[in-house]
Amino acid sequence: MMKVPWSIPYLPEGREIFSVSAIDPFMSQAKRVRDTQSTDLNHSTGAVVVKRSEAIGSAANQAGFTHPKLIELHRKGWCVRKLLKIKSGTKYWLCPGCSTHHDHAESGAVRDALSKAGADAVKGADVYLYGHFWCCKPCWDSMLAAGIANVYVVDNAFELFGRKK
Ligand SMILES: [Zn+2]
Ligand SMILES: [Zn+2]
Repeated sequence: MMKVPWSIPYLPEGREIFSVSAIDPFMSQAKRVRDTQSTDLNHSTGAVVVKRSEAIGSAANQAGFTHPKLIELHRKGWCVRKLLKIKSGTKYWLCPGCSTHHDHAESGAVRDALSKAGADAVKGADVYLYGHFWCCKPCWDSMLAAGIANVYVVDNAFELFGRKK
């Protein structure tokens, strides 16, 4: 585990983002969740909540719409936020194809863990995130409220998921 070397658009006071190898079992699980459950195909992301080497919750980010044709158009670039060149991490509500922070993988995984394992289990748990190289403020807010300890992304997350312009 190491602190990521790239700069991060948002971090709460005193927090860091760490990285692990893609072959880490929980990171590969987060990738599997992303590959099989995400419906926001511009920035597919999966997250797994882990406590004492056990996965206790997971989620992938979900688009505002569910029709496969719309999901495919969004993947091809028909994204309101992309067309308006909206800053990364902001104004998700502008585009029905982008998942709002409520439906981001991190928030969803925390909700899943809370409902399946309970608040005590989530306290001190870690989040493994595949598909993004940082977390937005609302996701951090929900993770901090639940007592999440550390957030891990994959070692080359910035190369894989940084915005290419
Ligand atoms: Zn969009
Ligand atoms: Zn988020």
